[in-house]
Amino acid sequence: MAETFNFTRDIPIDDEYDLVVAGGGPGGAVAAISAARLGLKTLLIEGTGTMGGMGTSGLVTAFDPMANGEEGLVGGVMREIVETMYTRGFLGPQVTPDFWRVAYHRWTPFRPEGLKLILDEFAIEAGVEVRFFTRLIDADVDGHKVNGVIINNIEGHKYVPAKAFIDATGDAVLADLCGADCREAGRDTDRIMPGSLCSLYSGIDWDRVLKEAARANPATDAPKGTDPNKADNWDKQKVHGEPLKRALADGHFTQYDRFLPGMFQVGNSMGNLNGGHIFNLNALRTESLSDGMMLGRKIAMEYTEFYKKYVPGFEGIEHATTSSLMGVRETRRIVGEYELVYDDFAARREFPDQIGVFNKAVDIHPYEASEQEFERFMKEFRKESRPAVGERYGIPYSILVPKGWTNLWVAGRCHSADVQVHGSIRVMPAAAMMGQAAGTAAHQSIKTGQPACDLDTQMLIETLRDNGAYLPQNTSSKVMTR
Ligand SMILES: Cc1cc2nc3c(=O)[nH]c(=O)nc-3n(C[C@H](O)[C@H](O)[C@H](O)COP(=O)(O)OP(=O)(O)OC[C@H]3O[C@@H](n4cnc5c(N)ncnc54)[C@H](O)[C@@H]3O)c2cc1C
Repeated sequence: MAETFNFTRDIPIDDEYDLVVAGGGPGGAVAAISAARLGLKTLLIEGTGTMGGMGTSGLVTAFDPMANGEEGLVGGVMREIVETMYTRGFLGPQVTPDFWRVAYHRWTPFRPEGLKLILDEFAIEAGVEVRFFTRLIDADVDGHKVNGVIINNIEGHKYVPAKAFIDATGDAVLADLCGADCREAGRDTDRIMPGSLCSLYSGIDWDRVLKEAARANPATDAPKGTDPNKADNWDKQKVHGEPLKRALADGHFTQYDRFLPGMFQVGNSMGNLNGGHIFNLNALRTESLSDGMMLGRKIAMEYTEFYKKYVPGFEGIEHATTSSLMGVRETRRIVGEYELVYDDFAARREFPDQIGVFNKAVDIHPYEASEQEFERFMKEFRKESRPAVGERYGIPYSILVPKGWTNLWVAGRCHSADVQVHGSIRVMPAAAMMGQAAGTAAHQSIKTGQPACDLDTQMLIETLRDNGAYLPQNTSSKVMTR
């Protein structure tokens, strides 16, 4: 039986910062960059050796939809990132600016090394102090205020005091250590959405894949804004759909999983696979996570062989690597000043304090490898929950603030929402918008003395707009949505 352990050794004090951001995924990296650009002395701590989180270490290499078929919805730092990656040639060769400026429900594939480099450059330019290979392990709290955090790296433990803190760990690690109320998948819900271990491949004959796609998929099927001559997310389903059915019937796979998001083209012969599920994975338990990594690598090999054997154009495919981080969809999220719920989403509600607008279906992957779950997913994602062309809904500031906390925010996957809305806005462009809002709010809070839980949201929205965010609400309010 485990016993508690009191850490009594003196911990050296690090430099003092205005802001500490824990976690350097799309949420945390953009939070740190935004805050440092506004002049905050900002420390970003990241457990791995790169920023980008799932987008780099998780090999999730496509930005979710950033437009709604009529207008681009995502501005600010996220738009700068994607436009810079385009200019530098880091997006898939088929990608045009329409992908993120106009197109409906369309993903923008990229090469992970490009995202790493651009985030490094943006952080250096802004003056963010970055500490890789550093983990946040504890928090020093006074009431609803954080005084400092304890970090660990090759130099040992350090205490880092700061005026403000942003939890962008994806798992609400900091909020939980602080004792803020959180909801945990599997503890507070019946089920946990599965994870996926993503892979990078080379040796794909994309010209052949395209021809097969065009043959299998008449142009009339293509959603608005889609060029039927380009390999893309809409046609790849058709390319591997029939082969997948055959392979499943042949008993090729260890588990009978009908759902395959599939292969994104990220280079001339490179592809990125979001394939296979680790069902019942609990990424808040190391044993489950470790077993999941091993199963994920086994499954990745099965998909490699599947593409090689069953799907035209993939005969020469070579598996470069699986990701070093598990692709985690759901763990822990905060109970915020407001919890965004499905009724808000269904009503396409907009808010005076919205820090972003979005258009993306609820994406709750099958909880188990069964036909029923596959059908449930298809109905929900492809029909029932998908916002129409031209629609949008708001993401309010108040889902970033743990209820009652004065100098603590979250950004990204650990925001406050119900399971369904979380299934829509947990993705990278939305995480980045949350990051920009949290970093900007931390700056405002330090400069004005306004606590996170009572911030003048009118002032926040104005600053975000000045810095490129697209916030089309007509009404404004100094008080956040509750
Ligand atoms: C399989 C899969 C496919 C997906 N597909 C897409 C897609 O196609 N498009 C899309 O836009 N989104 C997609 N998503 C969702 C998206 O990738 C994530 O939800 C998003 O990256 C969340 O951003 P984040 O910044 O909150 O967290 P993350 O990207 O998870 O980053 C969190 C970072 O925090 C670090 N960290 C965690 N704990 C600590 C600690 N204690 N100390 C220091 N550092 C810590 C981690 O190392 C990591 O770098 C997918 C997710 C998965 C799992």
